[in-house]
Amino acid sequence: MGIQADVIVIGGGSTGTGVARDLALRGLKPLLLEKGDFANGATGACQGLLHSGCRYVVSDPQSAWECYSENRILRRIASSCVEETEGLFVSLGEDGLAYQEEFVARCNTIGIPVEVLSPESTLALEPALSHEVISAVRVPDASINPFTLAVENANSAETRGGKRMTHCRITGFIVEAGRVKGVQAVNVRTGEPFEACAEFVVNATGAWAGQMVGLVGLSIPMVYSKGSILVTSRRVTEMVVNRCRRPSDGDIVVPHETTGLIGTTSVQVADPEGLTVEPQEIRLLVTETAKMVPSVASARLIRAFAGVRPLFGEAGTDNDREISRGFLVIDHEEGDGIGGLVSVVGGKLATYRLMAEKTVDVVCKRLGWSATCTTHLEPLTGPQRRGFVSLADRLAKTAPERRRDGQDGTIVCECELVTQREIEEVASAEDAPDLDSIRIRTRMGTGPCQGAFCAYRALGILERRGKVDDDPCPNVMLKMFLEHRWQGIRPILEGDQLREEELVHAIYGGIFNLHKSGERLKGAP
Ligand SMILES: Cc1cc2nc3c(=O)[nH]c(=O)nc-3n(C[C@H](O)[C@H](O)[C@H](O)COP(=O)(O)OP(=O)(O)OC[C@H]3O[C@@H](n4cnc5c(N)ncnc54)[C@H](O)[C@@H]3O)c2cc1C
Repeated sequence: MGIQADVIVIGGGSTGTGVARDLALRGLKPLLLEKGDFANGATGACQGLLHSGCRYVVSDPQSAWECYSENRILRRIASSCVEETEGLFVSLGEDGLAYQEEFVARCNTIGIPVEVLSPESTLALEPALSHEVISAVRVPDASINPFTLAVENANSAETRGGKRMTHCRITGFIVEAGRVKGVQAVNVRTGEPFEACAEFVVNATGAWAGQMVGLVGLSIPMVYSKGSILVTSRRVTEMVVNRCRRPSDGDIVVPHETTGLIGTTSVQVADPEGLTVEPQEIRLLVTETAKMVPSVASARLIRAFAGVRPLFGEAGTDNDREISRGFLVIDHEEGDGIGGLVSVVGGKLATYRLMAEKTVDVVCKRLGWSATCTTHLEPLTGPQRRGFVSLADRLAKTAPERRRDGQDGTIVCECELVTQREIEEVASAEDAPDLDSIRIRTRMGTGPCQGAFCAYRALGILERRGKVDDDPCPNVMLKMFLEHRWQGIRPILEGDQLREEELVHAIYGGIFNLHKSGERLKGAP
C-alpha cells in the first residue's frame, strides 16, 4: 500500500514548504515531496532580498503592496532568517531625479514609509556607494536567507504532524473519475518507484508547474525568465542597494550573510533546467552594479549561479520585467474539470507566505475544513542555534571561545565558521544527509574556498555516524558535492579564485585521487 496523507504538496521551495506549514498549522497532515533537497529551484537561486515592495511601486502596485505587507510579517515571524539591513534606492547623475519623484509619490500612495536623502546623508549611511550619487531613498528592504526559510518551514510542518520526503520526483498523477487521488513518484537516489494517496494535491513546483499539470493533460502558460547572480567573497555593502530606475539588469546589491549578491539579469529560456551563466551576463552585472558600488569592479567573485523566475504569462512577451510578480492560485476543478488539484504560480519569495495562505484557503474550502490561517501570527521556530557561530562573529571571523570548546565546538568550515556540532545536528536530524544537505542547512562550503577544506572533514563526520553508504563508496558523495561547487565556480574562474581552485584540484585530485574514483556518479543530477 502507498503512503497516505491528507494533502500532498509537490515542490520544496519557499511556496511548497510554506503551504505544508500552513496545512499543518490548520490541523491537516501534509506530505511534502521534493525531487532534490529543499530550495532546489528558484528559492535557492534567488537574490535573498526581502522586498519592501518599492521595486514594483511604479510598474506593479498590487505586487508592491503584497511585498510590503509580507515584509512586515516575515520580519516578525521569520526573524531567524531575516537580517534587518534596510535598503536604498540610489540615483546617479546619469539617472536624473524624474523617476525618483514618481517613485516616492507611489510609495506614499501605497503607504510604504520612505525617506529622501541628500548625497551626504546617503554616503554616511552606506560609505561603499559611489560619489556620483545625487540622491537616495531609504526603504524598508531587508536580507533573507532562502535556504533557512525553506528548511524551517518544512521542519515546522513536520513538527505539527506533516511528513517530508526529499529526493523524490513526481512522475505521474493517480486520477479516478476526473479527480486526482494521489501521485506516482520515484526515489531519485534508490530508483525505487512508489505511490502516495491524499484527498488533495497542491502543485507548488514553481517554474515546473506547467510541466507538472501536463502529466494530467492540462497546461499553464509560463514564461521562463532566467536570472543570473554573482557572489562576492565578502559583503560589498551593509545595506541593500537598488538603482532608482525602472527595474533593469544589474541594479541590485544585497548583503547576504558573509557575502554580497550582485544581480540580476533577465533572459527568456526554453526550459527551467540546464541553466548557465554567460560571460556577457557577468560583465554586465559587474559593470552596472559598479556604477553604484565601485568596489564591485575589483571584488573577488567566488561563484555565479542562475535560476528561473516562475512567471505566469504567455511566452513571447518582449520584456520579462513587465510581467506581473503577482501570483495566481488555480483550482483545476473550476476551469479544467479535474478535481483534487490546485496549482500556485508566479509570485516572489517575499510573498511565499501569502501565496501559501491563499492556496490552503482553496484546499480547505474544497475539503470542507474550517480552520483558518495562523502563519502570520505563529513564529517559525528556528533550529537549535546553541553552539552556532553568530553572523557578527562570522563577519569578524572570530570564534575563539568555540575553538577551545572541545570536540563538538571545533570549527569544520573555516570560511563560514561552521562547527562540528552543527554538522552533527544535521546528520542526526536528516534520514540520508549528504554534503549538500549540510551546506544548505549550515552554509558549510559556501565561502571563498568553496569546500576545499571542510568537505572531507564533514564527510568524515558523516562516515563516523554511519551516514555514508559503502556502495558505491564515500568518495562518490564527495565528488558530487565538489562537482556542484564547480558548476558555480567555473563561470567566474580567474585571479584568486583560479588559484584557490588549483589548490582544490591538488587536494582532491592529488591526495584523494578523486578524478579516478568512478565515472558517472550514481544519483548524480
Ligand atoms: C535570479 C532570481 C532572483 C530572485 N530574487 C528574488 C529576491 O531577491 N526576492 C524575492 O522575493 N524573490 C526573488 N526571486 C523570485 C523567487 O526566487 C521565486 O519567486 C520563488 O523562490 C519561487 O518559489 P517556489 O517555491 O514557487 O518555486 P521553486 O523554488 O522553484 O520550487 C519549486 C520546487 O519544485 C521542485 N520540483 C519540480 N518538479 C518536481 C517534481 N517532478 N517532483 C518533485 N519536485 C519537483 C523543484 O525541485 C523545486 O525545488 C528571484 C528569482 C530568480 C530566478
